[in-house]
Amino acid sequence: MTNKKSSLTGFLKEPNGELWLWDDLPQLHMETGYLVEQLLHYEQSAYQEISIVETKGFGRMFVLDGTPQVTTKDGFVYNEMITHIPMVTHPAPKRIAMIGGGDCGPASVALKYNTVEHIEIAEIDQRVIEVCKTWMPNAAVVANDKRVQLTYADGYRWIQARKKAFDVLLIDRSDPYGPAITLYKPAFYQYVHDSLSDDGIVVIQSGSPYYNGSTLRSTVRSLQRLFPIVRTYLCFIPSFPGGIWSFTLASKQYEPLDADLSRLRDEDAKYITPELFRSAFVLPRYVRGLLS
Ligand code: SAM
Repeated sequence: MTNKKSSLTGFLKEPNGELWLWDDLPQLHMETGYLVEQLLHYEQSAYQEISIVETKGFGRMFVLDGTPQVTTKDGFVYNEMITHIPMVTHPAPKRIAMIGGGDCGPASVALKYNTVEHIEIAEIDQRVIEVCKTWMPNAAVVANDKRVQLTYADGYRWIQARKKAFDVLLIDRSDPYGPAITLYKPAFYQYVHDSLSDDGIVVIQSGSPYYNGSTLRSTVRSLQRLFPIVRTYLCFIPSFPGGIWSFTLASKQYEPLDADLSRLRDEDAKYITPELFRSAFVLPRYVRGLLS
C-alpha cells in the first residue's frame, strides 16, 4: 500500500472499489489487511474511533482506532482462553470483574460457571457497549443478565476503590495506546493485586509475544513483584497479526497447572479442551527467553 490517506483510521479504498482495513505494525514495517464487505457503523466517540465492519474472511468485526478487537468467526478463541483458565483454576469463583467491556465476550463465558454470583464490568466508553449491543452477538445478552453490573469508568480509577473484592478479575484491555494506556502503568498492577481476595486470580491480555515482547515482559515482571504465582499462556487467534497471542495469569494461592479440570465448562467450547488447558502453558523457547 502506498497511499494510506483515509478519513477513517486504517481504512483504504482501492482503485477497483474494494475497501480494506489495514492494521499497522510500524515497528516491523508491515501491515495486516482485512477485506471489508461493508462498513456497518462508524463514529468518533469521546475516547476513540468505533467501527463495525462485515469482513470477507472473519465475519463481523469490532474495530477501535483502526485495530481489530474481536470477530464473530474467531472471537471464541480469545473469549474462552482469557476466561476458562482462571475460572477453573479458582475452585469456587463467586465475585468476578472485568476491565474493558467491548462486546463482553469473556463475561458471556464466565456466566457459564454456576458458582458466579455477580460480574462487575468497567468499560470506559459507553458508546462501545451501545454499539456492540446493536451489532455484535454478546453485549446485549450479557448486559441483560441479572448477575451483571455495568459501570462506565476508567478501569485505572475504578479499581482503586475495590479492596479484596474479587475472586477472578479479567483485564480485557486494548493495546497500549489511547484510553487503555493507564492499564499499562506500573501502579495499576498494585491496584489489581489489592482488588483481589486472599485467594484471587487475575488474567491480563498481554499481547503478541512476537510483535510486542516488551509489553509481555514488563507485564510479567510487574506481576512477579506482587504475586507468588505468575504464568503466561498462549493461544492462536487467526485474525490477530501473526496469530500467536499471550495472556498472563497471576494468582495469590492457586496454581493453574494443579487445577481440577473436571470443573471446565467446555460443553459448547470450540477451542479449549482439558489437554489444551495444560498445553497452553508450554512456551516456545523464544518466549521463555523473553521472560527469563
Ligand atoms: N475482547 C473484547 C470483546 O469481546 O469485544 C474486546 C475488548 S477491547 C480489547 C478493550 C475494551 O477496553 C474496549 O472496549 C475499550 O473501550 C476498553 N478500554 C480501553 N481503555 C480502558 C480503560 N482505561 N478502562 C476501561 N475500559 C477501557
